[in-house]
Amino acid sequence: MISALFLGSGGARFVVARQLRASGGMWLTFGETQIHVDPGPGALVRALTHVPPCNPRDLQAIVLSHKHLDHAGDVNAMIEAMTSGGFRKRGLFLAPADAYDADSIVLEYARAFVEQCVTLEASGGPYAIGDVALRTSMRHHHGVDTYGMHFTYRDSTVSYLPCGKYFDGLAEDYCAHKPDVLIVNVLRFADGMNVDHLTWEQARSVVADVKPRVAVFQHFGTQMLERQPEHMAQELEDELGIRVIAAYDNLRIDLSTEMAAAYA
Ligand SMILES: [Zn+2]
Ligand SMILES: [Zn+2]
Repeated sequence: MISALFLGSGGARFVVARQLRASGGMWLTFGETQIHVDPGPGALVRALTHVPPCNPRDLQAIVLSHKHLDHAGDVNAMIEAMTSGGFRKRGLFLAPADAYDADSIVLEYARAFVEQCVTLEASGGPYAIGDVALRTSMRHHHGVDTYGMHFTYRDSTVSYLPCGKYFDGLAEDYCAHKPDVLIVNVLRFADGMNVDHLTWEQARSVVADVKPRVAVFQHFGTQMLERQPEHMAQELEDELGIRVIAAYDNLRIDLSTEMAAAYA
């Protein structure tokens, strides 16, 4: 059974600072293996107050796509929770190199609590996390070390395309992993300032090129929220003939069922 729980669906400083949408990241379950991806501000509280609660002590790993605060604000709190306050050394922590460098988001003392700190590299892996093999994407264009993720479990691959500016070759790089499910961060509808994020037009063209069975959009900024992402998802679903879902806070998607329905 594969599922994704969105402990947050917001992105960008404005949305996160005001918590217009939560920023707790994704809790992925692959059979017995549980992985928390991008624990932004509020992740621990969101996990524990979810119904039913997510237990950090059941996590096999915490993974960061990059060190920006909306993806990593609660990383130390989550490491402590995963390791029973640091009293039980266990679990993996995986992040790009500059998450460990000067101005590190991960406190030295918290690093000692996990079984292993792994440095993610571009187009790297497989990194073994329980029953899951994680591979990374090319480097995203995002100012800090940022990698996408491809989680393979049995015959299925769930990919996560985090923040970054569009570049030629982005879709091809994700295509190569043949994802069944593609989760895409889309912060902005249009881009007036040439920022390091995909616009809606770019995100939908990447999805059209990669052609997963199921596409999920999340990490919305205000521009996207104003336009009602669920309606945009519905339109794209009709257009592409694949399942398209706009995430919202506390949405849990049974990806096994969604994939099975898409293959039927
Ligand atoms: Zn970022
Ligand atoms: Zn972001």
